[in-house]
Amino acid sequence: MKEEAIKRLRAQIENSRYGNIVHGEGDVRAKLVLVGEAPGSKEVELGRPFVGQAGKNLDEFLGIVGLERSEIYITNVVKTRPFKINAKTGRKNNRPPNKEELRFFKGHLHEELKLIEPWIVVTLGNTALRAVTEDEKLVISDVHGRPLESGNLNFEVFPLYHPAAVIYNRSLKPVYLGDMDVLKAYINR
Ligand code: URA
Repeated sequence: MKEEAIKRLRAQIENSRYGNIVHGEGDVRAKLVLVGEAPGSKEVELGRPFVGQAGKNLDEFLGIVGLERSEIYITNVVKTRPFKINAKTGRKNNRPPNKEELRFFKGHLHEELKLIEPWIVVTLGNTALRAVTEDEKLVISDVHGRPLESGNLNFEVFPLYHPAAVIYNRSLKPVYLGDMDVLKAYINR
């Protein structure tokens, strides 16, 4: 059973040196898997990927592509929140995952994908794109918005910008919306 296999896989990282693990969630038989970078504070608080602002972005994605959250599987490359302490405020700020975190969690992500056997994996941003394809040279601005020739993978890879990048750079918004339209047509073809 896939559910059992996923449970066993999750147990492997639960007692690692990384605390507060946020696992993937959704339909373990999903045809489409969405891969983000890493959980943020809200995700750790609720123990679920893509909640809070990221959840709103996800809802926009689902609305445009015409899918329900319950029919896909959502996960992150890194399952713990990468943070640094802000020297002035003493508060935790998000940071990109470091090499060690990526190395630790990448194998787990590939096991997760192997169990779920989706036919399409939508990656959000460079971190997910490179972790899923294991090609560190890929750049999201070159490959977004169309299926990648993914050679030795058992699924198609469809790279999108990370929604956070779209918030920082508003000029990406129409590009991002256009890419989601292409994805919608691609999955309904
Ligand atoms: N929340 C997540 O779970 N993943 C992201 O990549 C961003 C926000």
